[in-house]
Amino acid sequence: MSRSSKETMEPLTALIVGAGIGGLSAAIFLRHQGHKVLVFERSKFSAEVGAAIHVAPNCQRLLTRMGISTTDHGGTPLERVINLSCRNYIAPDVDLTLTSYLLESSPWEMSATLPLTQVIEKAGANWDLIHRADLHSALRNRALSREGAGSPVQLFLNTRIIDMDVQNATLTLAGGDVATGDLVIGADGAHSWTRAFVAPESQPQFPWGKCCFRWLVPYEELNEKFQCDNRNTLIEWTGPDRRIICYPCSNHSIANFGAFVPSTEVTTSNREWNNRASKEQLLQCFEKFDPSIRQILNQVPEDGLKIWELFDMQNLPSWANDCSALLGDAAHPFLPFMAQGGAMAIEDGASIGALFPLGTSRADIPSRLQMYEQCRKDRVERIQDFTRRSGRNNDGSEGPRPKGNYLIEILCSWLYLTGIHFIGEEVASFLPFCIDHDEWENSSRFLAEQTHY
Ligand SMILES: Cc1cc2nc3c(=O)[nH]c(=O)nc-3n(C[C@H](O)[C@H](O)[C@H](O)COP(=O)(O)OP(=O)(O)OC[C@H]3O[C@@H](n4cnc5c(N)ncnc54)[C@H](O)[C@@H]3O)c2cc1C
Repeated sequence: MSRSSKETMEPLTALIVGAGIGGLSAAIFLRHQGHKVLVFERSKFSAEVGAAIHVAPNCQRLLTRMGISTTDHGGTPLERVINLSCRNYIAPDVDLTLTSYLLESSPWEMSATLPLTQVIEKAGANWDLIHRADLHSALRNRALSREGAGSPVQLFLNTRIIDMDVQNATLTLAGGDVATGDLVIGADGAHSWTRAFVAPESQPQFPWGKCCFRWLVPYEELNEKFQCDNRNTLIEWTGPDRRIICYPCSNHSIANFGAFVPSTEVTTSNREWNNRASKEQLLQCFEKFDPSIRQILNQVPEDGLKIWELFDMQNLPSWANDCSALLGDAAHPFLPFMAQGGAMAIEDGASIGALFPLGTSRADIPSRLQMYEQCRKDRVERIQDFTRRSGRNNDGSEGPRPKGNYLIEILCSWLYLTGIHFIGEEVASFLPFCIDHDEWENSSRFLAEQTHY
């Protein structure tokens, strides 16, 4: 399409509820297509919170399309995964064979170590670990920048919306003002308010049975051996029904920890990310773990320890309704066990951008949003399902984890590349299915097939 014919086309007005990872991504992709974008955010963003999140290759290549380089924002490449089984865990009937048969032991009771280099090379983009606040501010700056394609996104902070009309694409704000657009995107996160309007048949979320303690520690405060062994590494310490993970972010200056424990053993006050947690409770939950791990837990900064309760939800029958749609956690809240929640929200944003080139008419909006659902829903639900199974207890008490957990999965993909095929098709193909994907390409191709655009 020539520049002059593009300029004469009418842009659409998109209203987005929620300026999180997914909402801002959709805003950037729509802006780049030449549309007008207004984003309404409940919070003030005075102190954006979160910890480190994964930018796997499927997500990385979309950030590159947006003009964002994770290395400019403290992105720390992930190169290997180490699994350490807690052999000193003395609970009865402990079966750690899943992780213990692979490799020789080490001072850290290492049961498996796997290079990711080949998998990442094949995917063709980095797998970076980045602080959520850094990723969020990179997206926000990109959305608001005067530079780059399209007009800057208009962001309204500290805004409460009290009504939404999915047919007429309007939002009523708390003061009584009405914002009118051509389409409305609900990107308001796991505890979404817009979900009830777009998918009125949605079921309430339910507790998943685990809580996650999380904290950050400067690497220099951890002992030297730990620092040296664990550069560019994700470590997982597993017990039968609990686990701890650690990985770096912020140019390797910060170690990010998460500790998953049965909800019955801890107290949380609400569903937010930022609940303060008790160090005493954390230590109690891991009292049977190896002393080397307890030593790390003893270094947890008391005032920086947070806890959040994990929730799950039945898959929604539909993500789109007339001129409105859901994306990210609002459409499909993710458990954290495959580290793909943020990536799926960004992929959703890319899909919406690709399906709405400049020149899309208002009459086309409902069918384009149906296409969005067709492009995304099966893929997301397959990854969600795998995530749920990966989060099951290691002792099999909640049903089997996938043949090979997250870690074994990577090994299997690697073995597959070397020609050793002793594992099931699903396991062998899952990681490439997840990270080799380019949603911009996928949705653009789909649109071309459907409309000869
Ligand atoms: C504060 C916070 C910290 C997080 N920390 C981590 C982390 O450390 N590691 C990790 O893997 N994942 C973390 N996540 C989750 C991860 O960012 C999301 O799973 C993922 O990015 C999905 O993106 P999303 O855009 O769907 O939702 P989110 O990124 O959660 O964004 C939703 C946005 O909608 C806003 N919002 C909610 N309700 C309304 C409303 N009624 N009106 C207007 N705006 C509304 C929220 O304030 C938020 O900005 C965090 C999420 C949040 C909100």
